[in-house]
Amino acid sequence: MAEEHKLHIVMFPWLAFGHMIPFLELSKLIAQKGHTVSFVSTPRNIDRLIPKLPPSLEPLIEMVKLPLPRISELPEKAESTMDIQTSDIQYLKKAFDGLQPELIRVLETRSPDWIIYDFAPYWLPPLAAQLGISCAFLSLVNAWFIAFLAPSAQDMLAGSGQRLKPEDFTVPPPWIPFSSKVAYRLHEINRIFGLASEDIASGVSDMYRTGKVLMGSDAIFIRHSVEFEPDWLNLLEELHQRPVIPIGFMPPLGEDSRDDENNSWLPISEWLGSHSKGSVVYVSLGSEVTLRQDELNELALGLELSGLPFFWVLREQSGLNDDSVKPPDGFVERTRGSGVVWTSWAPQIKILAHESVGGFLTHCGWSSIIEGLAFGRPLIMLPFMGDQGLNARVMVDKNVGIEVRRDESNGSFTRSCVADLQRWVMVEDGGRSCRDKAKEMKAIFGDEDSHKRHISNFIEYLGNQRLK
Ligand code: UDP
Repeated sequence: MAEEHKLHIVMFPWLAFGHMIPFLELSKLIAQKGHTVSFVSTPRNIDRLIPKLPPSLEPLIEMVKLPLPRISELPEKAESTMDIQTSDIQYLKKAFDGLQPELIRVLETRSPDWIIYDFAPYWLPPLAAQLGISCAFLSLVNAWFIAFLAPSAQDMLAGSGQRLKPEDFTVPPPWIPFSSKVAYRLHEINRIFGLASEDIASGVSDMYRTGKVLMGSDAIFIRHSVEFEPDWLNLLEELHQRPVIPIGFMPPLGEDSRDDENNSWLPISEWLGSHSKGSVVYVSLGSEVTLRQDELNELALGLELSGLPFFWVLREQSGLNDDSVKPPDGFVERTRGSGVVWTSWAPQIKILAHESVGGFLTHCGWSSIIEGLAFGRPLIMLPFMGDQGLNARVMVDKNVGIEVRRDESNGSFTRSCVADLQRWVMVEDGGRSCRDKAKEMKAIFGDEDSHKRHISNFIEYLGNQRLK
């Protein structure tokens, strides 16, 4: 019998931890099957990721450090979205685009079977084709986001002249024949369009980037499961006329014990352990959202007003930014004992897994939703940008959480709404069915067998469909 071909895969994620971490998780799963990976990022990000790599897989996963070209607007040490304000992400994208020559050298010297990347390197698919390397877009945002926006990106690329206005996205577009509830709110799509027009430094909007990688890639891999909302996967395949392979939810199972930067888990687990089962609200807005001072005040005072214990991850931008916003005066002192404001990277998965956590106030990043539901935690949803709003709407429809109301004209929200919804989700009778439904979701989002099946199919696909 012919010996099985050992694959070599290059992974090239966007410089956000919400992207790099799932790319690394997938790298580990590929390596566990005996294949090899070159994981490419910048030096500081690689140093931050290395602790997440189990020693047994180190020989199979090469961590390749490419220095980030310097852009004067970026703080010296900034190499990820976590290090900067949301409005400066455009400069990070510009620097990222400057990695192209170094990446080509990596591809020429490694000659991999596949390169897998996400939305940012719009310039990569034609280069991969020239080098004869199979290339795939790994989407860490959901199928509904790509299905919702991507055909319009294609229109723009094709120069149809059809300029879509923000209002066009507040209803499901005609190419979505189901799920009438999945649409943007006006304030949110205004924000997305606003950010896109600020994308001046990088010269290329996210929509354009996403359209290019979708149209140029040999396949689309997506963090989604055939057991959950499969219609969207079929729709994507139809819309883009190329294989769409779900890699499963990659639920957070058996976290590596070395994954504890700064030995933070011990004090956190002691604090969580001092609270009764299901009583604590875990609050985190992921790795990219930066709050304005007024938003931070309403959120803080809402947490206080609810009277529920909370663990709030409110990271400063790695100390690189002096003008970070701060909780309102006296808030930390008043809530001491009942609440924690954690100002560095938190071991989110371990926290969500802890039995004292009863609910998750989240910005609705796709990874956070998966992680919350894998542990059956109901969601209090406060989406900000990108796919987050659509994620929230799908989850409301599934009755696994409730969304904080925002003013349609300016997107503001109030402390009383934050407090009321927390109490509803966590303790009130009205929220019981939502709590039950979130628990039921564990069977889908945390299903280890489904996860293994998806990964086996995915790796089989990589082996069968490579160009070389
Ligand atoms: N995360 C974490 N600790 C933090 C903040 C975030 O471990 O203090 C992880 C979280 O578990 C998730 C990812 O970072 O895996 C955030 O991804 P998500 O898609 O939810 O949001 P994004 O950061 O992309 O907006």
